[in-house]
Amino acid sequence: MIKANDPALTSWVEVPKGSDFPIQNLPFGIFKTKYLSPVAGVAIGNFVLDLVYLHENGFLDGYDLPSGIFNQPYLNDFIALGKKKTRAIRERLSELLRLDNDELKNNVGARELALIPMDEVEMLLPVKIPNYTDFYSSEEHAYNVGSMFRDPKNALLPNWKHLPVGYHGRASSIVVSGTPIHRPKGQIKPADSELPVFCPSQKLDFELEMAFITNQNTRLGTSVPVHDADNYIFGFVLFNDWSARDIQQWEYVPLGPFLGKNFGSTLSPWIVTLDALEPFRVKGPEQFPNVLPYLAIEGERNFDIILEVFLKPEGASETTISRSNFKYLYWNVNQQLAHHTVNGCNIQVGDLYASGTISGPSPGSYGSMLELSWNGQRPLHLTDGSARTFLQDGDSIILRAHAEHKGVRIGFGDCSGKILPAT
Ligand code: MN
Repeated sequence: MIKANDPALTSWVEVPKGSDFPIQNLPFGIFKTKYLSPVAGVAIGNFVLDLVYLHENGFLDGYDLPSGIFNQPYLNDFIALGKKKTRAIRERLSELLRLDNDELKNNVGARELALIPMDEVEMLLPVKIPNYTDFYSSEEHAYNVGSMFRDPKNALLPNWKHLPVGYHGRASSIVVSGTPIHRPKGQIKPADSELPVFCPSQKLDFELEMAFITNQNTRLGTSVPVHDADNYIFGFVLFNDWSARDIQQWEYVPLGPFLGKNFGSTLSPWIVTLDALEPFRVKGPEQFPNVLPYLAIEGERNFDIILEVFLKPEGASETTISRSNFKYLYWNVNQQLAHHTVNGCNIQVGDLYASGTISGPSPGSYGSMLELSWNGQRPLHLTDGSARTFLQDGDSIILRAHAEHKGVRIGFGDCSGKILPAT
């Protein structure tokens, strides 16, 4: 039992009702203020707890932490300390923040320096990402895309139920929530033309995804066993894999996504630890036919996390355009990591493994405009009276996620990005 997950815990730091960041969450991120260079912090209510301050002032003594471990622009070195150590630190932070602990609560000077209001910080990318992989693990999404781009009778390719399909993405263009994205330009082949044209994408889309971040380097030639994969995962973030469908459709055969994807992907800034998600485990969909032994795993391997997508046109209010759930994924994260490494591919600290678009069974739960508008055939109606098939310049997409169990609600914070005109 992870003590920091106890539903009975409350904090002396005020946590507003419906906050993503109660004491049971304590996600890690990198932030800066007007006065501080980038450092590590933890979210609690509407505050960020400054881990450099706590470490330098003795509040984390006895944990044998390397000096300066939090005084860095990325969390890689901290998460590389391994699950045992990072879990112990989260447990210690929980102890410091709980209502009946006086160490920080009754030390007004320390308290004021350690807790920084969230509206005074700028959140940055939490990890330096050496490698990024995108899976394709939602059966509903794969079926919908296969139906549209190929044929409903053969929507899933023959390999789909035997292995978690994925591709290697581009790490250099992954940005933190709040970073605007320019509409990409590229080659598009209009349906009525023999030849491709070069122009800004007319079918710009988002993809609702979650991603996990790994906490260790492995040796080339070794594999992560499916039952041990949890020990390699530090935590999860929300992920928007922006996609230009018209560029994608012309370029993707035979090697898969390329310029239709690599112009930008957006990450939420707070890494919610796998530990914090333990109470929200559920069984995934039944897998048939049986998977090969290296992918076989029983038990609660999915997570019940409600996912929402909001579209906000320039100057207008948000419209909810989708409600899905992480639990719908056919392939779980253990299977993804086991498959990724079964051939001897090594993983690295800070690698990002995205789920693929997470669509649910009903049209209101689809995780992309491509599916929601059925490739432009069914426009979505927004609360400001306008309609969309794909994204327009000035539109923002905001992904949000939360899990709720036994009266505890934890969330991920916003994963947002605004579309700017093509350069
Ligand atoms: Mn994707």
